[in-house]
Amino acid sequence: MPAEAAAALCAIGRRFHARGWVLGTSGNFSVVTCPDPLRLSITGSSVDKGALETSQILDIDDSCRVHGGFGNPSAETLLHFEIIRRRGAGAVLHTHSVWSTLLSDSHGLDGGLAIEGYEMLKGLDGVRTHEHREWVPIVPNDQDMTRLAREVGSTLDRHPDAHGILLQRHGLYTWGASLAEAVRHIEILEFLFETIGRTATYRTRGGQHGIAQDS
Ligand SMILES: [Zn+2]
Repeated sequence: MPAEAAAALCAIGRRFHARGWVLGTSGNFSVVTCPDPLRLSITGSSVDKGALETSQILDIDDSCRVHGGFGNPSAETLLHFEIIRRRGAGAVLHTHSVWSTLLSDSHGLDGGLAIEGYEMLKGLDGVRTHEHREWVPIVPNDQDMTRLAREVGSTLDRHPDAHGILLQRHGLYTWGASLAEAVRHIEILEFLFETIGRTATYRTRGGQHGIAQDS
């Protein structure tokens, strides 16, 4: 199972890197290989996600002890544990896209970002209609991972219906019951972030109906 999980995470790394979502060794991915006692396959720290090798995927337990793979667990591993415990997730994925960085900044003071009325929302687990209103909470960024994990955990509890969470000027965390579902959530949310970001940009430039106009 860890070998299969490692190959799957490497493929996701190439795919997300090609989209510009995990540049410069940013982002991290994990998948639960055993729920009890918890074992996790997770990307090592400071590795190029576009050129991931299976040896860079670590097999760790819930104390962050490494049982396989080369390198150290990512500094953000605590956030993965927090999400897995609070949501019962089977996989957690984290990206640093341009649009999530911009929107988490511009909506940071609101404490979150509302997304409503888009067909693509139906790609989120349990959502049946475009009329769904998704609230993506935004948490201030923090280099103290213990404190940040605590904040992420309490935010998840306050927003039990959320499918993702943004760290301000940092990036997106989402999850799924399976790795495939977590990948789908990244693609859906990144699509929606870009759509909302571009729409806001066009409107600021004086466009109507989302069409930009040159002055
Ligand atoms: Zn990050």
